[in-house]
Amino acid sequence: MAKQYDVIVIGGGPGGLTCAALLAKWGVKTLLLEKNKATGGKAVGAERDGFRYELAPKLQVPMRGPAFATAFSLLGIESELKPIYLEEACLAYRRSQWKKYKTAITHQTEGVQDPTEFFTLFGLNAQEQERALAILTEIALMPPEKLDALDDMTFQEYIAQHDPPSGLYSYLAMHSNASLAEPIDLVSASEQVRILQHIALSGGGGYYVGGFGRLLDTLAKAVKANGGEIKTRTRIEKINIKDGQVTGVATADSEFKAPIVISSAGIQPTVLKLVGEKHFDKSYVNYVKDLVPGWAFTAVKYFLNKPVLKLPMYMMWSDDSWWNVERFLKVKQGHVPNEVILFGIVPSNYDPTMSPRGKQCFIAGTICPPDPEATGMVKKLYKKMDEMLNKVFPEVMDAVMYKEFEGPAEVSAATRDHVLPGQGGECVGLAQIVGQCGKYKPSPKSPVRGLFYVGCDAGGSGMGTHQAAESGINVARMALQYHIKRQTAS
Ligand SMILES: Cc1cc2nc3c(=O)[nH]c(=O)nc-3n(C[C@H](O)[C@H](O)[C@H](O)COP(=O)(O)OP(=O)(O)OC[C@H]3O[C@@H](n4cnc5c(N)ncnc54)[C@H](O)[C@@H]3O)c2cc1C
Repeated sequence: MAKQYDVIVIGGGPGGLTCAALLAKWGVKTLLLEKNKATGGKAVGAERDGFRYELAPKLQVPMRGPAFATAFSLLGIESELKPIYLEEACLAYRRSQWKKYKTAITHQTEGVQDPTEFFTLFGLNAQEQERALAILTEIALMPPEKLDALDDMTFQEYIAQHDPPSGLYSYLAMHSNASLAEPIDLVSASEQVRILQHIALSGGGGYYVGGFGRLLDTLAKAVKANGGEIKTRTRIEKINIKDGQVTGVATADSEFKAPIVISSAGIQPTVLKLVGEKHFDKSYVNYVKDLVPGWAFTAVKYFLNKPVLKLPMYMMWSDDSWWNVERFLKVKQGHVPNEVILFGIVPSNYDPTMSPRGKQCFIAGTICPPDPEATGMVKKLYKKMDEMLNKVFPEVMDAVMYKEFEGPAEVSAATRDHVLPGQGGECVGLAQIVGQCGKYKPSPKSPVRGLFYVGCDAGGSGMGTHQAAESGINVARMALQYHIKRQTAS
């Protein structure tokens, strides 16, 4: 006999774990099913030879007051959050007319980012600095109603109205790639401005004691401590539906029953594969198929035989290395760019216990297409990352003991099924572009009764893990209401 639950959550990434922990805390009989051997999703923690890390560079934006802090507070485990704030980071930038990269150290105090070092690095004259400051101030202080009105505009369109100095434009174009894995000429201005506000006012580049892996393990413990169940190595093959109402889920050889199923497998895999097109109107199926997947990040972990990098976070870019739509299409046609943006962290410079004494791990990533089958291009990008490091931080390459790679193929295999051409390896989830953000974001409530989506595809906003956790909180509240309504009606 299949066991009966109030709610089944598919997937134990940041969204599913947050949602399941809260529902369990609120007295709802909750089961979370995860296909991998461990929960954590794209932010899962890993371990090798005494090094602890995430599979790719992982940082918290906003650093102060992320959605995880709200969730931990609702769960009554605030003291388990253990945030680590970024105080200094290294930026390396090359203008087209410069031959070499120039570096600067930025400082954050009490969450406020001082732009002076940026302006010096960008080579801005006094007049340009004034213009840049006016743009950044407008972004940082934009009220919510004005922000919402930017749903219909790309960030490029918004910025172009302000005549930005070229160094600032390059930074913002790189930032669209690095923070949302999107191009400046497609990313929704509302979403990008929201993230820049988070960084300006609450700080960026946060981390946690023991990394995101420890943080997410704490959420998994909270699910169980509140009476919920978690089963790992349990891949859901099917969401069962009867008369337009969810009845449970099935693996290859077992069934679990519940009138509410919350899926973090991604809206496209959930609708097209786990439920099946026949349970939806054709127009909804077409809507889901037309949703655009976000771009991916490909990562290299450099395991080093000595500590060579002093700071927790590094960002490297030039006027030529960020991608807009035109540059992305060239890459898709096989053109390998001369330079790539590079964003990296050193976990042990946040929390020294993340590496064995006297060693270091540098986790770096760059933007790439989300297609799990684009492995040839991804390998070329790995080589480019090595070349970038050789140019700017050769001491890293000199200290390499071994490397590990992770690209869209690995991300898809670990977290998100490939159900449409070019989709699966997304960094965040659905693209954060005009037409898919803010008021246009898919609803977490599906047309099938009792079926909800959680995680980055619906219910939240902001940068990756923050967005997933925010969705987890919002969808848990929606599912609780639905659960109570059902109970009172029966
Ligand atoms: C390279 C890279 C770098 C990133 N850097 C950052 C960063 O610096 N900062 C940041 O905030 N975010 C970052 N992110 C994004 C962040 O990791 C994601 O946005 C976040 O993990 C999404 O959470 P989620 O819960 O929506 O989905 P996921 O993390 O994808 O979790 C979904 C879970 O569902 C499970 N699942 C899927 N299908 C099934 C099934 N059929 N049955 C059972 N289980 C299933 C998966 O195994 C997975 O555990 C990065 C992501 C990548 C890939």
